[in-house]
Amino acid sequence: MKTIGVLTSGGDAPGMNAAIRAVVRTACENGIKVFGINRGYAGLIEDDVRELNIRSVSDIIHRGGTMLYSARCKEFREEAGMQKAIETCKKHGIEGIVVIGGDGSFRGARDLSLRGIPCIGVPGTIDNDIVSSDYTIGYDTCLNTIMQMVDRVRDTVESHSRCVVVEVMGNRCGDLTLNSGIAVGATAIVIPEIHFDIEKHVIERIRRTQKTDKKHFIVMVAEGIGGVEELARKIEKECGVESRAVILGHVQRGGSPTVRDRVVASQMGYKAVQLLMDGIGNRVIVQKDDHIVDFDIYEALNMERSVNTELYKIAHEISI
Ligand code: ATP
Repeated sequence: MKTIGVLTSGGDAPGMNAAIRAVVRTACENGIKVFGINRGYAGLIEDDVRELNIRSVSDIIHRGGTMLYSARCKEFREEAGMQKAIETCKKHGIEGIVVIGGDGSFRGARDLSLRGIPCIGVPGTIDNDIVSSDYTIGYDTCLNTIMQMVDRVRDTVESHSRCVVVEVMGNRCGDLTLNSGIAVGATAIVIPEIHFDIEKHVIERIRRTQKTDKKHFIVMVAEGIGGVEELARKIEKECGVESRAVILGHVQRGGSPTVRDRVVASQMGYKAVQLLMDGIGNRVIVQKDDHIVDFDIYEALNMERSVNTELYKIAHEISI
């Protein structure tokens, strides 16, 4: 391949810039021309592209967000939109694309690969919800942000002997909630993957903990569950402890990426270009058992998700 493109799609995640940087630098070092495609598939449809060189990606490794911007694009799901995207590729001689994003973005990458533009997916999403990969770029930064935010809330909760119910991002995936819940010593953790009973898993746990003289409580709830305001009211009424709900929201997405996100992003971006250089497409780069490997996109999208029940059990036993 002589010319490739790179885009970021779906929700932005810290570390996407490090992945873009790795893609651009690896390509340039190997004599391949790189086009940065702005705003994901929307930019590909609208021919919003620019050539990038080694210096175009200077000073971005430490920045959150994505220098290529991101978007969700309905038009790309239709054949007409896809054909416009292919026209843009033909116009600039783009022979392959690195798509940094989540599962939805990978579906788009698969569709484009099937139409003759080989694509490589790189998992970039704070949610860690890509089944085929043990790790997604942005997850570690997001976990640390949540931990720092809840540590701050804890100061006030402790001073006033209150309970705080924190809503954590993660879509239908409870990984952020479970892991940050352990890190902040939450009394109760509620995630969609594990059956829960509010009475038994939250109210009774708080009551039991109250008997040990603890006076402040943190309850972590995944956004897919919702209802944090209502839960805070219920806790206040039934446990007699002043309770507040905190929705962390988009602060969870931003910030300078951690070492782990920068390194994994660099490895994955590098590997994606290696595959395209070998003329291979329709693959996703994943982390499996500490190795960076690749899978067929179709296979990756159809893998079954498993939950870390052991971690959930540990959280329950030690956070009391
Ligand atoms: P996140 O995990 O952050 O939500 P994502 O990549 O899963 O990221 P989506 O909004 O699901 O985010 O998908 C991003 C874009 O990928 C969509 O806006 C659309 O352009 C494209 N896309 C999603 N699903 C498909 C599909 N089934 N076929 C073709 N393109 C798709």
